[in-house]
Amino acid sequence: MNWRLLLQGSVKFACMESSSNIGVLIGVPMDYTSTYKPGSRFAPDYIRNASCNIEFYSLSTRRIMESEGFIDLGNIILPPGDVEKSLSIIQSVAKGAWKEYQGIPLGFLGGEHLITYPIVSGLMDGIDTLVVFDAHLDLRDEYLGSRLNHASFLRRLVEKGVRVIHIGSRAYSGEELEYLKTLENIKVYSVLDVLEKTVEAVELGRVYISIDMDVIDPSYAPGVGNPEPFGLTPLQLLGLLKKIVGSSSRLVGFDIVEVNPLVDVNDVTSILAGKLVFELAALARGGR
Ligand code: MN
Ligand code: MN
Repeated sequence: MNWRLLLQGSVKFACMESSSNIGVLIGVPMDYTSTYKPGSRFAPDYIRNASCNIEFYSLSTRRIMESEGFIDLGNIILPPGDVEKSLSIIQSVAKGAWKEYQGIPLGFLGGEHLITYPIVSGLMDGIDTLVVFDAHLDLRDEYLGSRLNHASFLRRLVEKGVRVIHIGSRAYSGEELEYLKTLENIKVYSVLDVLEKTVEAVELGRVYISIDMDVIDPSYAPGVGNPEPFGLTPLQLLGLLKKIVGSSSRLVGFDIVEVNPLVDVNDVTSILAGKLVFELAALARGGR
């Protein structure tokens, strides 16, 4: 099946049609494995709407980018509640878009964190390192009897041998810390490591970045599914993203997940997510 038929139109990111191409955007409105506060299915369009009011000036690269924009392909059409089928559709779309838009970063707007599993599975041949920003490790073997959900997605990817750098964590289960000791393909930098500046710049190759918005402190990003105190500030995150993209040979793609507009305050989390999409594309553009 043609992967484009699995998408439907929406408001465009930054409210503009663009023939320029600093990034290709795809909304993934899935939230049915959420265990605390569902609602992230509404985030793709909230983030797009919030982005209609941002200036196209990139703080991280100090560039005016008013003549540039995104190719926004809309949202993936998903069968409500059918997790396995949804994951297979997301993987098909990710793979189809990746083949068609070689060389342009693919940005996915979640949705819950489970969407990163089919996306990275679909792009695996083109990625050397997965960089995850998250308050949580999402390394549980299963959660509440389910093996495919937002709290276990990273374990499923690690099992496939994906190389992972994980940044900003601060909430662990005993099971996850035990499992971590057995792994060689994941490096974890907690939020304290970030404060102590021990995050090293290493050669990352082709990178995919996944940002769970709860990595940011709830005071800056209250609209998330599982808020967790002691988080990063948006400026700390921006600095880290600059470092990561700078240490990569290429930013293949990224996702912003776990924004929940239903529990947000004045859309500040959606606005911040929109800015992050823009800054990531700008950082990727900087190296091209
Ligand atoms: Mn997560
Ligand atoms: Mn999280």
